[in-house]
Amino acid sequence: MHVRFPDFRLGKVLATSFTATLTERHGDAVERIPTPHRLIDWLAVSGLAVDSCTTAQLDLARELRESIHTVATAAALQDALPAPAVHVINDRSAQGRAAALLTPEGERRWQLGSASCVEDALSVIAADAISIIAGERAGKLALCASPTCQAAFFDTSQSRTRKWCDMNTCGNRQKKARFNANHRKNPRPAK
Ligand SMILES: [Zn+2]
Repeated sequence: MHVRFPDFRLGKVLATSFTATLTERHGDAVERIPTPHRLIDWLAVSGLAVDSCTTAQLDLARELRESIHTVATAAALQDALPAPAVHVINDRSAQGRAAALLTPEGERRWQLGSASCVEDALSVIAADAISIIAGERAGKLALCASPTCQAAFFDTSQSRTRKWCDMNTCGNRQKKARFNANHRKNPRPAK
């Protein structure tokens, strides 16, 4: 039987692309890695291909994902970072092996310690989250302005004034909502 799963929302930042595998956390949440196989697919398109994934490893991945979301949200609000979630990120970062490799084209590629090891892939994601939360990279953590989303995202725009985690989904929906609201107030075109 062929089952169609929700598409991925891939951004330029690994850690927040990963947290975007669950969207609409404050509305009708959409789980985009509902099965171990979908995590394998997500890792493959994110440059972290693994051979296999168990349900227990999927649980680890989701635990890391929600911990990154929690800590990144606190960082965006300049709140104290919640210790249990920090602990999960650190554990995942410490319990995987991966090496950064430079390709002949001058791009970075990840080589996991073992081809089948989800833990190695998660350590790369955890390290990426640490680098943006620690403020090591040019950009600013912010929260999506969509009330049903509120995802923490990494704003790398020049002015650091991005409002939505994703222009094509949250940004567009907000614009449409505003247009419809104005339209209701003003059914006839203004003079
Ligand atoms: Zn959003």
